[in-house]
Amino acid sequence: MLVFVIIISLHFHKFSEAETLKIGAIFDTESLIKERAFYHAIRQIEPINGRKIEGLVQNVPPNDPFEATLAACHLIESGVLAILGPTTHENSHMIQTVCDNKDIPLLDVRFVVQPKNSISFYPSQQILTQIYIDLLEAWNFKNFVILYENDESLIRIAELLKLYDGNGHKMVVRQLDKYQNGDYRPTLKEVWQSEATHFVLDCSTDILEDVLHQAQQVGLVTNKQFYIITNLDFHTLDLTSFQYSETNITGMRFIDPDSDTIRNLGLTLFRNDFTNLESGFIEAWKIKLEMALIIDAVMMFGEALNGLPKNFATPSIDCMSAEAWTYGTTLTNLIKSINYPGYTGLIQFDNFGLRSAFGLEIIELKEGGIIKVGNWNYSDGLNFNRVYSPNPPPLEVGSLINKTFIVITCLTEPYGMRKESEVPLHGNQRYEGFGIDLIAELSKKLGFNYTFIIREDKKNGEYDETTGQWTGMIGDIINGKADLAITDLTITSERESAVDFSTTFMSLGISILYQKPKKALPSFFSFADPFSLTVWKLLAAAFFGASIALFILGRISPSEWQNPYPCVEESEFLVNQLSLRNCFWFMVGSLMQQGSEIAPIAFSTRMVAGTWWFFTLIMVSSYTANLAAFLTTESPDSPFKDVFELVQVAEKKGIKFGAKINGSTEKFFRDSKHIDEYQKIYQYMKNHEDEVMVNDNKDGVYKAEHENYAFFMETTSIEYETQRRCSLSSVGHSLDEKGYGIAMRKNSSYRTALSTAILKLQEEGVLAKLKRKWWEEKRGGGLCPQQDKAAEGTPLNLKNVGGVFCVTIIGTVLSCILVFIEMVLHTFKKSLHVKKPFKVLLMEEIRFYFRTSAMLKPVTSPKPKPPDYGFITS
Ligand code: GLU
Repeated sequence: MLVFVIIISLHFHKFSEAETLKIGAIFDTESLIKERAFYHAIRQIEPINGRKIEGLVQNVPPNDPFEATLAACHLIESGVLAILGPTTHENSHMIQTVCDNKDIPLLDVRFVVQPKNSISFYPSQQILTQIYIDLLEAWNFKNFVILYENDESLIRIAELLKLYDGNGHKMVVRQLDKYQNGDYRPTLKEVWQSEATHFVLDCSTDILEDVLHQAQQVGLVTNKQFYIITNLDFHTLDLTSFQYSETNITGMRFIDPDSDTIRNLGLTLFRNDFTNLESGFIEAWKIKLEMALIIDAVMMFGEALNGLPKNFATPSIDCMSAEAWTYGTTLTNLIKSINYPGYTGLIQFDNFGLRSAFGLEIIELKEGGIIKVGNWNYSDGLNFNRVYSPNPPPLEVGSLINKTFIVITCLTEPYGMRKESEVPLHGNQRYEGFGIDLIAELSKKLGFNYTFIIREDKKNGEYDETTGQWTGMIGDIINGKADLAITDLTITSERESAVDFSTTFMSLGISILYQKPKKALPSFFSFADPFSLTVWKLLAAAFFGASIALFILGRISPSEWQNPYPCVEESEFLVNQLSLRNCFWFMVGSLMQQGSEIAPIAFSTRMVAGTWWFFTLIMVSSYTANLAAFLTTESPDSPFKDVFELVQVAEKKGIKFGAKINGSTEKFFRDSKHIDEYQKIYQYMKNHEDEVMVNDNKDGVYKAEHENYAFFMETTSIEYETQRRCSLSSVGHSLDEKGYGIAMRKNSSYRTALSTAILKLQEEGVLAKLKRKWWEEKRGGGLCPQQDKAAEGTPLNLKNVGGVFCVTIIGTVLSCILVFIEMVLHTFKKSLHVKKPFKVLLMEEIRFYFRTSAMLKPVTSPKPKPPDYGFITS
C-alpha cells in the first residue's frame, strides 16, 4: 500500500519511444564502475529489428526505500522493459514490489535471501553451501569456528549449521563485530584463546581485508590456521601482507583474472583509472562478481528480446495506474529459458528459477599470491589439480631457520625417556632417547628450534568412530597442540589420511615376544641326528647297491678267477674271492673304516672299491663334523615356532597373547581380513581385552617375562627388550613390514625438508649410530648375548651330500663298462689260444655266470697263469 501512496503523490509523464528499447538500472550513489559495466554490456547488444538498446540509470542512496521507489517508478514511466537492481536489501524490496505490480522483469545480481519474482543471476545459495561442505570434507575440517558478519551472512551459512552433530563435525559460531564498532578483535581473541585452528569466514568484501588484518594482529594468521573464505570476491583484495604467513587460506571465485576475456574486460572497465593498458593484468584482478553479473544479466536481457514478437509494444505505464506490461511475464520466462555463456560461466536457471548448474574455481593464497588449485562443478563436484589438496612447494632447507616447533612425544623406551639426573633439569634437557636425539639432529640440519611436550597416557593415536575424532598424539597434531609427533609412531594408511608423515626413519615388523625356549632333553637316538632320514635311507641303499655291484663285477671279471693252489700249475678249477658275503663284509669294513682281508684284483672291481672308499671318506667326515655341532648346541624346546603354531597350541598349552591396546599392531590384526589365524587372534584379543591387552609396551614385556604370555610387539622394540631381558626372545618371523615416521599436520610445508633431512641422516650413518647407542650401549643395552643361529646343528640332507652319491653311481657304472671290456678281451684271447670260435666261448662264459652261483670255475686249456693277488703280492 505504501508504494501506491508514494506513487499517487508523484506525477511523471508517460514516456514511450518506439525506436529504442530501454533497460533501466538502479545503482547505489557511488557506483561508477557498475554503471560502466552496465553501459558496456548495452553497447554489446545488437539492435533488435532496427530498435537500439538504451540504458537508463538511477542512483539512490543505500537503505532508502522511498528514493528507490521513486527511481523505479521513474524508470517504468520512462518505458524500460526491465530493471537491473543491484542495491541494498531494503531498497530492492521496494523495487521488487513496484516491478511486480507493473509486470516489469527485475534482474537481480546480488545475493538474495529468498528470490521471488525477480530473476536472480546470483548463484543459488543452496549450491554454494554444498560447495562449502565439500571443501570442509576435503580439508578435513572436524572442529571449526564459523565467523560471520551479520544476519545476511548468517542466512548464507545457515545450511552449514545443519552439519553439526550429523557428520561428527563440531562447530562454534561467532559474530565478528560484537559491539558494532568495526573492532573484530574481541571475538578474534576469544577464538584464539580457545585454540581453534579451523575457520569458515563469511563477511562482505568491504570488511574482509580488515578482518584478516585484525586476525593477524591477534595471532590467528600463522601456519597453524586453516580458513575457508566464502566471499566470492576474495581474490580481488590486496592480500600481500598475508601471503607469507603460511596460513592455509582457501577461497573460491567465478572469474579467472588470468583469462584473456577477463583481461580485456578489465581494460574496458578500468581504462580511465589506470595507466597500465598494456596487459590488463591489474585491472582483471579488480573485477568483482557483481560487475560481471551486471554484464551477463544485460546481455541475457538483450538475447531474450529476440524471442518477443517482432514489433512488440514497449510499456507505456503510469506508475499510479493499475496497468501492467503485457509482455513482462513473457520476457521473464524467455530470460529464464536461455542458456547463456557469460563472464561468470554458463548461466542457466532451474525449475525454481535459481541459478544452480554453475561451476567455480577453488583458489588458495600462497607465497606467490592467489593460485587456482581446483574447481567445482555441478555434475562432478570438487576436482583438484593435484592428488591431495594443498600440496606445499618443497621447502628450501634454510627456510626452517628460526622456526619453533612444538614436538610431542610419549615416554616409550627408548624413543623418549626422562633423563636421570641429580640436579633438576629444565626444558628439553629433561628428556633423552632415540626420538629426542633424532629431533636434535634434524634441528641441527634445518636450523629450527623445538620444545618437547609429553603425552603422558602414551597413546599414539587412533580414530574413534563414535566421536569421529582422532585420539592420542595424532589428535594433538590435528588440533594444533603440537607441530610434530615422534615416538614409535607407525605409519598407517588410516593415520596418513589425517596427518602427514615424514619419510620412514626406522623399519620394522610385528613379531612375538615370548620366554626363551628351555633346553630340551637329548633324544635316545641323537647319534642319528647329523643325517636326515632320507640320507640314512640312501646310505643303506648305496651300501647294498655297491656290495651287489662288486659281487657281480667280481664274477664277470676274468682276473678275479684265480688258481687256488699257486704251487699246482695245472689246477682243475679257479676260485673267486668275491662271494656275496665277502662283498658285504668288504663294504662294511670300508664304511666303518676298519678294512678287511679281501682285496679286489681286477681293474673294474678295484674301481668300485675305490669309489666306495671315496664315498665313505666324505660321508664319515660329514657325519663326524655335524655330530660335533649337534652335541655342542642345546636344541630349544619351544611350544610354538611361529604365529600359526601359537594359534593352534595356545589353548592346549594355556598360552595367552595380546598387544598394545589401540596400537598399530592391534589394527594390523583387525584389518588382516584374509588370514583366518590373524582374525582368530584379533577376536581373542577383543574378547579378553582386560586380561591380555596392555596400555604400554612395558606392561606387555612384564607379562611376557612373568606369565605364560606371548606379546605381539614391533621388532625394533623386541630387539630393545631382548638386549636387556635375557629370559625373553623373539619367536618366528615378522608378520609385516612397515616403518616409523614423524607426524605433522596435513599439508605441512616443512614435510619435504624434514624427509630430506632424515634421508641425509640415514645416508651419513647417523641413524644407525643413534640406534646402536640407544639399543646396545645405553641403559643396560648389550646385557644378553644374542643367539647365534648359525651354530645350531641341522641334519644334513640330500642337498648337502648328493654329490657324493652321484660320484659313487658314476664310478660303479664305469666299472660295469670296464668289466665288459675285460671279459670280451679275455674271451677273444682265449678263442685264439684254444682255437674255438669267439662267439661260442663268449656264450659259454655268459652261461656260466648265470648257471651257478658257485665260486669255482672249471679250467679249460690253456693252463692258467700263476695267481696275481694284486698289490698284496706284487
Ligand atoms: N607403534 C605402534 C603405534 O604406532 C604402537 C605399538 C604397537 O602397536 O605395537 O601404534
